[in-house]
Amino acid sequence: MSILKLTPSCKDYIWGGRRLIEEFGKDFSGDVLAETWEISCHKDGLSTISNGDYAGKTLLNYIQEKGTQCLGTNASPFEYFPILVKLIDAKDYLSIQVHPDDSYALEHEHQYGKTEMWYVVDAKEGAFLYYGFSKSVSKEELKERIQNNTLLEVLNKVPVKKGDTFFIEPGTIHAIGKDILIAEIQQNSNVTYRVYDYGRVDANGNGRELHIDKAVDVINRKQYVESQKSDSHLANCKYFTVDKMILDGTYTEKVTNDSFVGLLFVEGNGSILDSDTNLDFKKGDSFFIPANEETYTIKGTGVALKITLPSPC
Ligand code: ZN
Repeated sequence: MSILKLTPSCKDYIWGGRRLIEEFGKDFSGDVLAETWEISCHKDGLSTISNGDYAGKTLLNYIQEKGTQCLGTNASPFEYFPILVKLIDAKDYLSIQVHPDDSYALEHEHQYGKTEMWYVVDAKEGAFLYYGFSKSVSKEELKERIQNNTLLEVLNKVPVKKGDTFFIEPGTIHAIGKDILIAEIQQNSNVTYRVYDYGRVDANGNGRELHIDKAVDVINRKQYVESQKSDSHLANCKYFTVDKMILDGTYTEKVTNDSFVGLLFVEGNGSILDSDTNLDFKKGDSFFIPANEETYTIKGTGVALKITLPSPC
């Protein structure tokens, strides 16, 4: 087998910072780097392989050449590569937004919807994000609050610290706050309905496009109630399973024919190896290991997020 080291697609959205360049070693010449699409086969930002026989090709090329068996049997319900893994450096507030579910997105956008999860890689003192409503609102109240700039008053404001995780079901209104660095694992989709953007305008005085009617259609307007987690995974839904690996020494695991393994290192450094590959890793690096029956070993210290596909129910 071969372990593939990935080079991300870089996005310079206005709210981004420089931490992904300066602390995570991302190679980007622009002023700000908001997002790196680390494990991505989405046309809006493909990740590229940086080692071995496929160096320089995209991960999508690799999968097309190898065939879908490299994704594992659990990928069978999906028409295309099902997930997208990003690092996000929010130096400023992201817009208040919502994502539709599959049925709404397929009907209105001809794309899948978006379920996503966040792992807080780092956050400054006092950082917070918005996640759901602090009280239930009617459709009329929601529209009125968007119009008269009082939406924030009814959002559930959550302080965050390193290591926190959030699972964002479609329909959940949300926004990442400033001074937060997040790893995001999501469905392979780029459908976002922007509800409110703090009245921000660019140098020409233009605000970013809002999608209020569609957002109001899909937003879950009920008060957010915390639910108890029932298993040991960081996240587990029909699209992805995410596990946190705390590394200190040597860790060996067998990959299965059920699913490929995606790895995103969020802390530490060391090496990752198998029978014919031996690669260094540092925080911010991502890898794709095709589905097979072989073992791989990680030596070093740090924290990694391991992403696999769950068995279809
Ligand atoms: Zn989102």
